[in-house]
Amino acid sequence: MQSISPESVFRGNDAWRKALPLITNLTKRPLILGRGIYTNNLRNKIFDDLKNNKLKVDFANLLFDCCYEDISRVKNIILNNNNDSVIAAGGGKVLDSGKYIAESLNIPCITVPLSASTCAGWTALSNIYTKDGQFIKDVALRSCPKILVYDHRFIQTAPSRTLASGIADALAKWYESSITCSKMDDGLVQQAIQISRVLRDQLLIDGEKAYKGQFENNLSWRNTVEACGLTAGLVGGIGGEKCRTAAAHAIHNAITQIITSNKFLHGEIVGVGLLLQLRLEEMKNNNKLADQSIRQLLVLMKELNLPTTIAQLGINVFENNNLEKIVDFTCQDKSEIHFLPFEIHKQDIVEVITNFEQQKIRI
Ligand SMILES: [Zn+2]
Repeated sequence: MQSISPESVFRGNDAWRKALPLITNLTKRPLILGRGIYTNNLRNKIFDDLKNNKLKVDFANLLFDCCYEDISRVKNIILNNNNDSVIAAGGGKVLDSGKYIAESLNIPCITVPLSASTCAGWTALSNIYTKDGQFIKDVALRSCPKILVYDHRFIQTAPSRTLASGIADALAKWYESSITCSKMDDGLVQQAIQISRVLRDQLLIDGEKAYKGQFENNLSWRNTVEACGLTAGLVGGIGGEKCRTAAAHAIHNAITQIITSNKFLHGEIVGVGLLLQLRLEEMKNNNKLADQSIRQLLVLMKELNLPTTIAQLGINVFENNNLEKIVDFTCQDKSEIHFLPFEIHKQDIVEVITNFEQQKIRI
């Protein structure tokens, strides 16, 4: 069974208002799940609107990441309150926790992304981390959320850094799916890969304008946030597991193992992983176009103020066995790096990262 999309998707400036009748029909006592303080106003609005529709509404906030500690704490709150749905309103970690918790309690999940940093509002997948943000594993869920509310007015309030991060994560879809699925003869998977190619092209054209422009009447902004929050999720829905991730995400997962004082967003780390994946393809798969892709991506990433090296993520790979830790985690048996169509050994990753971190970035 493949869950391709949420049962209902509301999008645009009035998505929340339009979704309200369906939500009030579905649930009588929802729990609103959130995290950051700067999105509290939006959750208060969601709370008030539901109250005005005569719903009994409760609140809970994550204290950490999408981790087992928070998951079991919030599950207990829901069981005590008798909540009949979860409304996850926030970024990727909140959306992933909400989906996971709702599914394990057999109640519906409504996702309300409050930034364009992720396609987690769409997908049937939750990434589990430790309290400190170290990636543990991703969990495939039985289904996508019941309702996705992609309200552009909500998303406009998010810091532009979240949009840049979402662009990097969505760009990775093409580079990861096209290499892992290139030899698959499943037509649906091939079609998903082509969607991710169009998605990449649109982001290369519109991404910078969206990041730097004003929101009002900005078609580039609208197209870009929907590409990151909706289309990226659809590609995973149609293409399945192998269309989701490869080396870029495997390297992301490994980099999160090193705890740093500054937290970086998922897509910011995936972007660096993507550049490293392309270098690997050049080295191991004789991909002549990889260098050109790197140059093209670097131009955009600089305009979006995205990190382009592991050092810029606050990690010196030549200290504290950091390189070894990253390499070991990247090459674990279960790692997505092995979805690549060529064999990867630890020494390959050592070489790629060492060269990459030592070189002056050329454009
Ligand atoms: Zn991702």
